[in-house]
Amino acid sequence: MYRDFNNSLEEISLQDELIDFINGKDFGKEKKRVFILRQLRRDNNGDLIPCVCKDELANEGLQDCHYCEGIGYYWDEKIITGFLYDPTKRKINTVLEINKEAGRKDRYEIRFMTDFNVYIHQYDRLFEPDLTVDGFVKIPIKYVNKYIILENIYKRMDYGRLEYNYSVLSRYE
Ligand SMILES: [Zn+2]
Repeated sequence: MYRDFNNSLEEISLQDELIDFINGKDFGKEKKRVFILRQLRRDNNGDLIPCVCKDELANEGLQDCHYCEGIGYYWDEKIITGFLYDPTKRKINTVLEINKEAGRKDRYEIRFMTDFNVYIHQYDRLFEPDLTVDGFVKIPIKYVNKYIILENIYKRMDYGRLEYNYSVLSRYE
């Protein structure tokens, strides 16, 4: 489904926008928050490790599988911090909080930034848990939003020595 994404990535022309974002006054505000990263396990060749429940023909797992919860691959979860930003809202929709992605969720792309030491790969899942006013994860955990990683790019900037992960995500239900 996302096979062609590499080819179109250059066209997004995100570099200038991103540098503005990082160097601009926005960066000083505390935007980081807690997320849960569901990392798909990979073998030594970097290939995903299919779950026992995975149906090769349908290319999916069983929804009630206790091992993979229907993803079809084994995974581990960890808590990370990072920040999401939504280029659509920032540029077009800053005043009216209209839900622009309605009806085209499969095309909706969101950017996510994390520190360089967070290990993110394509097809990992990112969950945005409901937080208390103090920024802690509410228990029991409830996911406000779920995302799939379409692409992760490791960024090294020439000036400022700023290194970080830059991921492009798509929301899913
Ligand atoms: Zn499974």
